[in-house]
Amino acid sequence: MNFAIVSRGDEHSNNVKSKMKQYLIDFDLIYNDEEPDLVISIGGDGTFLEAFRRYVHRLDKTAFLGVHTGHLGFYTDWTVDELEKLVIEIAKTPFHVVEYPLLEVIIRFNTDEKPLRMLALNETTIKTLGESVVFDVQIRGEHFETFRGDGLCISTPSGSTAYNKALGGGIIHPSLEAIQMTEIASINNRVFRTIGSPLILPKHHTCLLQPLRKNRFIIAIDHTVETYSDVKSIQCRVARERVRFVRYRPFPFWSRVRDSFVTEVKPLDD
Ligand code: NAP
Repeated sequence: MNFAIVSRGDEHSNNVKSKMKQYLIDFDLIYNDEEPDLVISIGGDGTFLEAFRRYVHRLDKTAFLGVHTGHLGFYTDWTVDELEKLVIEIAKTPFHVVEYPLLEVIIRFNTDEKPLRMLALNETTIKTLGESVVFDVQIRGEHFETFRGDGLCISTPSGSTAYNKALGGGIIHPSLEAIQMTEIASINNRVFRTIGSPLILPKHHTCLLQPLRKNRFIIAIDHTVETYSDVKSIQCRVARERVRFVRYRPFPFWSRVRDSFVTEVKPLDD
């Protein structure tokens, strides 16, 4: 089996990477950055997003696994203390795969530029610099609302615990093939009206955003941010591709939600 490791880049994560790489090579696994069957992310959820981005072009051939070097994450379940155990599992046990839905984002332009298609593991956010965004929002080909505000966030179920949650969106179990649209500071008064609630769209219900004023946007796809000019439309829907996670033991979603947001952490002694 070919494997690759993506580290957060701090000293601790790099040391864990070197150790793990050597252990796996000792078990006759092949380190191959170009065509890995297994990608191990060492760091936090942010590092996992970077690992996903690097190998997004070969999702059908690559499965992912996360080791955390900080706090427990949504994509990272193994601890550094469990490294030896994990290495033996990887080397000796055929892995079980769990698949989660992804978000497809297609940006079309008013120019000859080819449409851009991207996949997000967490979400896309669409904002402008300074001014409000004004969009005609279509769902399934029909006008839904005219949105005015700071922006919109469209997230996957596994991304629903990230930016989406901070915007008041609901937490969606990743076994549901859906996307969620949450508003970022919408303008609501006697003239402008938006739904105000997060919307959850099932698979095949496409959401199309067409700019009505400025067509220059700051669009984030997970942890990467770019500015795009002459944007004609932004289309979002559940992607046909899925991300594959390697599981050697259960990692229940609701336990992760509880442990991240509900379970009290004892304050550190002064
Ligand atoms: P960052 O600003 O350095 O960290 C964002 C935080 O979100 C980190 O604590 C990260 O966990 C956590 N996170 C990432 N994915 C998550 C998920 N699926 N569920 C729960 N928490 C998650 O940015 P980054 O590390 O480059 O990550 C980019 C992500 O930041 C974006 O995808 C977006 O979701 C999130 N973000 C959140 C807000 C907000 O909550 N107001 C604002 C902007 C962006 P780790 O510490 O384990 O890496």
